[in-house]
Amino acid sequence: MVSTMETLTIRTENKFRTLVTKQSYKKGEVICAMPSENIVDKPTRFTVQIAKDKHTHVGKLAALNHSCDPNVILDTENMLMIARRDIEKGEELSFFYPATEWEMQAPFICLCGSTNCIQVVAGARFLPLSTLESHYLSKHVRETVIELLENTELHLKKLQEL
Ligand SMILES: [Zn+2]
Repeated sequence: MVSTMETLTIRTENKFRTLVTKQSYKKGEVICAMPSENIVDKPTRFTVQIAKDKHTHVGKLAALNHSCDPNVILDTENMLMIARRDIEKGEELSFFYPATEWEMQAPFICLCGSTNCIQVVAGARFLPLSTLESHYLSKHVRETVIELLENTELHLKKLQEL
């Protein structure tokens, strides 16, 4: 069964919050259900995007930091947080923000240090396809990318007809 968030704890150091797991997980394992506490139509720095015009407050999971090499994914269709790889007890949990966020309200510079670091974390719309392709993406992000590509194609066709 889907576990609750009791296995997760928020650690605060110099006002910087991290979400830490008190137990280990195997790759693919469900860590907890994603809460959807208060759905709004505009993003804030505390929300997660779950559909084109839907952003939800996620309780404790708001302490999840971004990483370009994350250890969890947020499945926004089934509202689950899932281990992207094996995770050790005591590890900080992180996810790739542009996997759910199309355009973030509060962009920032990433200092995760991973070799594939995207540096500017502002949302999926600001990333090249080649970068997006290498990540798990939420359905609404995939759909928006496809829509954009189709519109571009249509636009180019129209320009050629002029
Ligand atoms: Zn990074």
